[in-house]
Amino acid sequence: MSFSDKKKRHSELSDQLSLYSKQYYIFDDPSVSDSEYDSLYNELLEIENEFPELKSPKSPSQKVGAAAPKNFKKVSHSTPMLSLENAYNEDDISNFIDRVKKLANVENVDLVLEPKLDGLSASIVYKNGVLTSASTRGDGVVGEDVTQNIFTIDCIPKKIEDFQETVEIRGEIVMLKSDFQELNRQREKNGEKLFANPRNAAAGSLRQLDSKITASRRLMFFAYAIVSEQNSKSISFAFSTQMEILQALKKFGFVMSDHIALCKSQSEALEFYKKIEKQRAELEYDIDGIVYKINDLSIQRKLGASVKFPRHSIAYKFPAEKAQTTVLNIITQVGRTGTITPVAELKPVTVGGVVVSRATLHNRDELEKRDIRVGDRVVLQRAGDVIPQILYPILEERPADSVPFQFPANCPCCQSSLVKEESGVAVKCINLNCEAQLVERLIHFVSKHAFDIDGLGEKNIRFLFEKGIIKSPIDIFYIEDRNKDLCLENADGWGELSVENLFKSINAARVISLDKFIYSLGIPQVGRAVSKAIAKFLKTYDNFFDCIRNGEGEKLCEIQGIGISIAKDFNSFFSNRDNLEIVQKLCGDEISSGIIKIIDVESLEDEIFAGQSIVFTGSFKKISRDEAKELAEKFGGRAASSVSAKTSFVVAGENAGQKLDQAKKLGVKIISEDDFFRMIEKK
Ligand code: NAD
Repeated sequence: MSFSDKKKRHSELSDQLSLYSKQYYIFDDPSVSDSEYDSLYNELLEIENEFPELKSPKSPSQKVGAAAPKNFKKVSHSTPMLSLENAYNEDDISNFIDRVKKLANVENVDLVLEPKLDGLSASIVYKNGVLTSASTRGDGVVGEDVTQNIFTIDCIPKKIEDFQETVEIRGEIVMLKSDFQELNRQREKNGEKLFANPRNAAAGSLRQLDSKITASRRLMFFAYAIVSEQNSKSISFAFSTQMEILQALKKFGFVMSDHIALCKSQSEALEFYKKIEKQRAELEYDIDGIVYKINDLSIQRKLGASVKFPRHSIAYKFPAEKAQTTVLNIITQVGRTGTITPVAELKPVTVGGVVVSRATLHNRDELEKRDIRVGDRVVLQRAGDVIPQILYPILEERPADSVPFQFPANCPCCQSSLVKEESGVAVKCINLNCEAQLVERLIHFVSKHAFDIDGLGEKNIRFLFEKGIIKSPIDIFYIEDRNKDLCLENADGWGELSVENLFKSINAARVISLDKFIYSLGIPQVGRAVSKAIAKFLKTYDNFFDCIRNGEGEKLCEIQGIGISIAKDFNSFFSNRDNLEIVQKLCGDEISSGIIKIIDVESLEDEIFAGQSIVFTGSFKKISRDEAKELAEKFGGRAASSVSAKTSFVVAGENAGQKLDQAKKLGVKIISEDDFFRMIEKK
């Protein structure tokens, strides 16, 4: 590759990594796994090693984390809170030790090995022994003020005895794996988005404007450093080694990891590394490597730091976690809009500390292409994601009598014939009265971004549906009236308090904005962004009701980004009398007043693609097409599958074909993958 090619690639990588970092650090919602991020980051480093002139201060290689967002009060750190250089093999560790010896001019160094806790770093300041303030790392120089939230974490001492001067303790905020699983279970029950991993759950829980939310999550703080306010020099009066610092932290009452070792040589360190790697899955908290630190603080000070890393420490990362298991069965599930998803039932296996017994196989085409079969031994990966992926089947171990999976021709619930979507990959059950779909629609109806009814999670909806108590959304609002006969409080797992709380949240949900209401109905292709656009366009419930009663979905095509396909789904949904009647009974009409109240739409200000219809075509270098679509939707847009005059713009990747030609023919704006990222970045 020529210099100009490398320069171009460097700029692409920088854009991409900055975007990923924002999603990871600011939104606590990564869009790629850590191993994917790391491989792109390493590619960037290789280019910079070859062409150091590309290493500008703006490069991700020169930046720590991401700047604190506006909504938090900012705190400047007394000394920068840096990142850690990564090592991936023993050669990297040898190079690190050789470099240290050379720079510090010493013959030998003792190493302190600590687990690299997978959370987010925090700095806690004590004045005269009393906890006074706390902040996150932010961009290393300026962090977010999280003092009130830190006060809610029980294991952090609010007072420390011995140290009378101002002292800053640094460490990692983490969520234990068991607490993370419990939190996600609760969120699933409430229809809320799941956290991808304990790190994101910890970050999302600490970086809250409302400390009550932080208090309700179980967070831990593991301390690993003491910094004095003036500069690190004054620490030397008290401590001469990292081991002494760790002992002092323990004495102050901080929680410490039990897996810390003082090693005299690289081989001793390697033994410890391997031992912890083996124990990793059984640890209560996630770790993603071992931090090697030079024990002698005078050497540490001599070595100093680069803009991004201290030179006295390095993180020896563990490889991404993989496991092998057997596919016991392949089942098909019916979604809310009738889409049939194949799911592999697996012999339970632990990957990344989590027991995995299921993995999605996405859709019929994907399953046929990958040819995963019942009885196959497969390799699973869980790298920073909750949802494990089946990487591939081990063909050498495939049983001789194995046969390809036969995708069913009929719905596994109502037995009606399945139909393949005209455009797209979904195979669907089109019977709107299919019970599996009804349940999924009810679960959607009460979910976080719809009616948001606490206490009506998936389990309870299924229970109430099976008992015949809730068959349609309307029934939800009559449970309280009917409870004299139902006596739900006597049912297994309910009780008076939970029934009382359930009624409270149902009543609180009787007032809802028009966009959320439209979203709650579960109309095919009408997600949050489209619902907002429709609500904004129609303005009032009366207009909405006229539109659905008169089958006037076509007029929604006036909204930028909504085309005939959505309009058709919209009309067809309400041409089903049951669906129209649900709206009528819930919200009322000229004759009756209804049982809920609809209010104005929410502001759409920060949604850069609000109301826009975006088509992705060709193959992308940075992310998959599905990920690009998710990004568009996240910022308020709608990812459409075909180009029309109403398409706002087309994002064209490599080898784009027909859709690109169509866009050119219709004069629709065409942008590159890089332009798309830049639009998001700019915002
Ligand atoms: P890092 O998390 O890899 O390492 C530095 C941090 O380690 C320190 O700030 C500190 O908080 C922590 N740490 C844990 N235990 C420690 C100990 N015992 N002693 C000292 N420090 C300890 O670095 P980073 O800069 O925060 O993040 C880079 C990593 O984050 C990448 O390698 C990547 O895996 C991940 N990342 C992922 C995405 C994504 O989209 N998935 C985006 C950005 C970053």
